[in-house]
Amino acid sequence: MLYPFEERLYRKPIEGFAFVLKPDDSLYRGGRRLVCEGVCPRAHRPLACRMFPLRVRLTANEADGTVRAEAELDPRAWAVCPLPEEGGLRAMSAPFVGAVAQAGQLLAGNTFMLEMMLAEQRLIDEMRRL
Ligand code: SF4
Repeated sequence: MLYPFEERLYRKPIEGFAFVLKPDDSLYRGGRRLVCEGVCPRAHRPLACRMFPLRVRLTANEADGTVRAEAELDPRAWAVCPLPEEGGLRAMSAPFVGAVAQAGQLLAGNTFMLEMMLAEQRLIDEMRRL
């Protein structure tokens, strides 16, 4: 799933990257899902792919209205990535884990991003409960 505004980076064809954008309103109105063929130039991979197999978990502080972002294992990774079984977060480099958290913190400062990330978090939490 592309983050809000990210589809602007994929309006034109990219050499060596076969993909289509599909409408997907599951997280936010006007959302776009990038469907690839499993190969892309590293410099052009979408943000969610850059974070995978991690994702951003947001925790709201009711008292002061702030939101804190942390990196966590994406539960969807278990089906396709060997790293979760290789020690989870401990198997990832600390700079990578920190960079995902930092990106999440920066994104959470934008209302559109924040709403999308919270919508995704609700879906992830529902999935965990099943
Ligand atoms: S990183 Fe992998 S899943 Fe993401 S766009 Fe590239 S080929 Fe597709």
